[in-house]
Amino acid sequence: MHIETQIIQATVQEAAAMGAVVPPIYLSTTFERAADGTYPYDYVYSRSGNPNRQALERAIATLEHGTEAAAFASGSAATMTVFQALETGDHVIAPQSVYFGIQEMLRKIFAPWGLAFDLVDTTDLAAVQQAIRDNTRLILIETPSNPQLAVTDIQAVAQLAHAAGAYLACDNTVASPVLQNPLDHGADLVIHATTKYLAGHSDVISGVVVTRELNPLFNQIRLIQGIGGAVPSPFDCWLTLRGLQTLPGRVQTQAANAQRLAEFLSQHDAVEQVLYPGLAEHPGHEIAVQQMSGYGGLLSILVKGNQEIALAVAAEVKLFTRATSFGGPHSLIEHRASIEAPGTQTPVNLLRLSVGLEHPEDLMADLDNALQSVYRP
Ligand SMILES: *Cc1c(COP(=O)(O)O)cnc(C)c1O
Repeated sequence: MHIETQIIQATVQEAAAMGAVVPPIYLSTTFERAADGTYPYDYVYSRSGNPNRQALERAIATLEHGTEAAAFASGSAATMTVFQALETGDHVIAPQSVYFGIQEMLRKIFAPWGLAFDLVDTTDLAAVQQAIRDNTRLILIETPSNPQLAVTDIQAVAQLAHAAGAYLACDNTVASPVLQNPLDHGADLVIHATTKYLAGHSDVISGVVVTRELNPLFNQIRLIQGIGGAVPSPFDCWLTLRGLQTLPGRVQTQAANAQRLAEFLSQHDAVEQVLYPGLAEHPGHEIAVQQMSGYGGLLSILVKGNQEIALAVAAEVKLFTRATSFGGPHSLIEHRASIEAPGTQTPVNLLRLSVGLEHPEDLMADLDNALQSVYRP
């Protein structure tokens, strides 16, 4: 079955009771035991399991070609749980350009807790190999990365990780399961900030970890989910599953729009460089062709000039909203370096564009006007 059909079916099945076409929201925190003490529906208490959460987890596990998924209250909580499932003294390798919140998490929470880590350029396989230590338990990659759109070879890094007895986790937030399935390329875990494309409407913070197989690491993640309780509410799960039904159509349109914008901007006099894996000149294009079926709705541009000029361009757009995050129906523009803390690797002239569902010609005209008004006032 194709992904478009799979996701509608997964949602429809959950709604079948009472003849409803849309699933109900189970707000109940607790579930009745039978006279013999058993739980007829296997639900006990909503922290450890809830019908809306289970429906969401099953749907995303299917879309990512995984065995099981664990949903969390945010993408950050999902990644946090993966780190918490390791032991103190373990070593983690993560990308130099990993999502900034994850760098902060490693530095400020997990280093003091006793987890060693190195941030390396994961697009450079020799650098990954060199960073592996005897105690390396996990390699985390993010491909394409946010906001630099760097592409990491999933299969090659999976081989390095497995040869060292380590797990590979891949943050698939930017691509979504519509365009890339990291588990098929050897990753052990997939992480999503479902806040972005999967929920898709900028109205719910949520996250998920999907596993290829049940192994000690995922069992520990499941344990922490239930005991720690960083779980999404039933309504968060319902919203995320609702958004998921239109994921394939949204992502394909957003990717087509982004490709047109990337091609237009790469010819623009005011733009120094466009970072988008769908462009033939992108350093990761060849690998992207092998592991992705499309290149997504996120792109970054380096404008000619400094931070001031980049901020001036963002100030001039009319259709793009100046805001962080991505994956919603409306286009967003963000100057990343100024939201990340000092010490960021993000260039000061970088603007990140989350391309939405507007008509690409309107978006192109808007960016062209903004760029022209800054460069030819
Ligand atoms: C947004 C994002 C996160 C964090 O997700 P939250 O839901 O905001 O906590 C993690 N990884 C990537 C790649 C992201 O874009």
